[in-house]
Amino acid sequence: SLHDPTIPNVNIGVVGHVDHGKTTLVSQLTGSWTDRHSEELKRGISIRLGYADATFYKCSKCQGPESWSNTDTCQICGGKLEPVRSVSFVDAPGHETLMATMLSGSAIMDGAMLVIAANEPCPQPQTKEHLMALELTGIKNIIIVQNKIDVVPQKQAIENYKQIKAFVKGTVAENAPIIPVSAQKKINFGVLIDALNTTIPDMEREADVPPIMLIARSFDVNRPGSSWRDIKGGVIGGSLIRGEFREGDDMEIRPGRQYMSENKAKWEPITTKITSMNKASHKVAVATPGGLSAIGTKLDPAITKSDTLVGQVAGAVGSLPPVWEKMKFDMTLMDRVVGSASEQNIEPLRLKEPLMLSVGTAVTVGIVMAAKKNQAEVILKRPVCAELGSRIAISRQVGGRWRLIGMGILTE
Ligand code: GDP
Ligand code: MG
Repeated sequence: SLHDPTIPNVNIGVVGHVDHGKTTLVSQLTGSWTDRHSEELKRGISIRLGYADATFYKCSKCQGPESWSNTDTCQICGGKLEPVRSVSFVDAPGHETLMATMLSGSAIMDGAMLVIAANEPCPQPQTKEHLMALELTGIKNIIIVQNKIDVVPQKQAIENYKQIKAFVKGTVAENAPIIPVSAQKKINFGVLIDALNTTIPDMEREADVPPIMLIARSFDVNRPGSSWRDIKGGVIGGSLIRGEFREGDDMEIRPGRQYMSENKAKWEPITTKITSMNKASHKVAVATPGGLSAIGTKLDPAITKSDTLVGQVAGAVGSLPPVWEKMKFDMTLMDRVVGSASEQNIEPLRLKEPLMLSVGTAVTVGIVMAAKKNQAEVILKRPVCAELGSRIAISRQVGGRWRLIGMGILTE
């Protein structure tokens, strides 16, 4: 293809139970550490989504999976390698209270690695919950990474492999390849990269349509105390799901900015101009679908700071999907709650019950106003911008935590 092999155009989610090695795996594959926030470092868990890009290389002289590498040196012959393909990783938090973040990340995942540590019985609660989330959000291209094989004897690794096989039977990951690795010791990375290329290929996307980007991060990139002359406009990060952005384009963001009118919160779209764009560490003049893009704007950085715009949608002015303050959806509830030690049955929705709804990268609370077996109507605490037919992941409070209970499709 004409595509630059050092620019990613696919997003690979990294999901699984806390401490199973997701962040270590991403950092070893990409050479960068995704837990950037100090709070995350202190608590040792990923709170927000982490992003990092990797470039994969192939030796033209050598054969087999080990001829793939994430560095430009061949593991077999030591020769210099050419880049073949780049990918973006989205590192989701595994901690059980952070499902909302994981769900918001799943909106921009084209495929996922489900990381399972070989030194613990499988499945652990968030292993189950994350696989369920992949299933409900429609992510089908899945690789299971059996991690930490350096700390278990071969016999235990085989036992764990059998547990994984039994666990995924009948799920979307039933036929997913299971790749044993040590993220820490970089063991079997060639096989993993080979499997990623086969199982999660670059996506075909429409380019010739108005652009739509799901916002997954937003930043103020200025250092404290910068002179006003050097202040850079707000930056948003996310993934184009179709269309293209060009430098200099006007852009609209919805639902936009909240304001108060007669004591009621209202929302108005934000419009701005694109001043610069980055994909991976490259400046680009055109941002295309897939992979993660960072878009520099003329916005006041106070509007974009600290992920304020996460969950919103950016696109060409006048062509964005509707903003919903109420939503109606067709739904399928699961039979049982997963993700906690005790797995209870899922009761029907109750009137006035609050639900956590994930739509695209947005996470909002909806109060149930009407509910039938396979349909519900909610009033949203925060409006969302979404197309008819969008998938909605539905969670409810069970034992003081949000638990995934089903899936909906936005209807009129
Ligand atoms: P996450 O919560 O899934 O992101 O897990 P982390 O990447 O933060 O890893 C949790 C712990 O497991 C850390 O102490 C890592 O050093 C360790 N770890 C990760 N991968 C491996 C591995 O392949 N082998 C061993 N022995 N330890 C690992
Ligand atoms: Mg982590």
